[in-house]
Amino acid sequence: MSSKRKITVAYGDGIGPEIMKATLAILEAAGAQLEYDVIEIGEQVYLKGISSGMEPKSFDSLRETKVFLKSPITTPQGGGFKSLNVTTRKSFGLYANVRPCKAYSPFIKTYFPKTDLVIIRENEEDLYAGIEHRQTNEVYQCLKVISQPGSEKIIRYAFEYAKKYGRKKVTCMTKDNIMKLADGLFHKTFDEIAKEYPEIQTDHKIIDIGTALIADRPEIFDVIVTLNLYGDIISDVAAQVTGSVGLGGSANVGEEVAMFEAIHGSAPDIAGMDIANPSGLLNGAIMMLVHIGQPEVAEKISNAWMKTLEDGIHTGDIYQEGLSSKKVGTQEFAQAVIERL
Ligand code: NAD
Repeated sequence: MSSKRKITVAYGDGIGPEIMKATLAILEAAGAQLEYDVIEIGEQVYLKGISSGMEPKSFDSLRETKVFLKSPITTPQGGGFKSLNVTTRKSFGLYANVRPCKAYSPFIKTYFPKTDLVIIRENEEDLYAGIEHRQTNEVYQCLKVISQPGSEKIIRYAFEYAKKYGRKKVTCMTKDNIMKLADGLFHKTFDEIAKEYPEIQTDHKIIDIGTALIADRPEIFDVIVTLNLYGDIISDVAAQVTGSVGLGGSANVGEEVAMFEAIHGSAPDIAGMDIANPSGLLNGAIMMLVHIGQPEVAEKISNAWMKTLEDGIHTGDIYQEGLSSKKVGTQEFAQAVIERL
């Protein structure tokens, strides 16, 4: 029997194929023990009339491998198409979205060199529950759903994550001064669960001032746990303040299945030009390797990736005159990482 771990891989749309090719080349060169079941997702599948953007046989692949490395896709505009990401998260109960944001100063320009935070975002409920309808010709309604079990599961996940990775503080962000019942339930559940972890500091911020503080003083945060929509927004803010949205990786974790990806989208404006930064997907893949029990390979890749940044070999999105030594394209960046393994 093969000792290789089978995973499901999707190349996606836009810059997806370029960054996946670069990422897989690095994984292979580093000796990751992997076998791929490649599935098609996104635009081409939507155009076949499959409203979820993913065929039933692809869902079967995920049921079998339980691990999904996914490039971003382009969701077609207009009615009738469902978000593939939201469908996957709901179909497989991927309730926790984990998004680490770290500054790699002085190699990448950031005003906040000490930033090292992790956003843990609830992934199934809130305004993403998909309950949206027309009330009248002039009024549409989108329902926000917050449940006690859903809140408890994600908040407990955040505290357990903090414990496992030696993090000192968990901050909860809500808007419970206005949504007293829905956001109020999340905040109340946070206060209850916090009592079980006396060794971890806790605080709560209203989401608007919380977001402003991430943009102005991200160093004060450690682990942040929040609702789905707020988490989606603040993770782009946090990734951007550390240098580029092209850097952040993310894990979507459930009881059985987990999906790993970059936090950014398919970037159609730069697709096919070999200039995209593959680091976001690579960082997602590093989290995947830890998840499937290949942490040594993860560490090896992470070190080689940092060394590449340290040597000033940068893609256009993070290139800075005076700080970078060479501007490279997607595949050349991957080669530079491989040379440093
Ligand atoms: P985007 O993240 O694709 O791009 C925003 C900006 O960041 C663009 O200027 C782009 O060039 C730049 N950028 C993004 N990734 C980069 C990288 N790796 N290297 C260098 N620059 C990078 O966001 P958007 O333009 O709002 O969305 C484009 C499409 O992506 C939409 O169809 C959207 O629905 C989809 N999307 C998909 C996912 C996903 O599949 N997980 C997530 C977000 C958006």
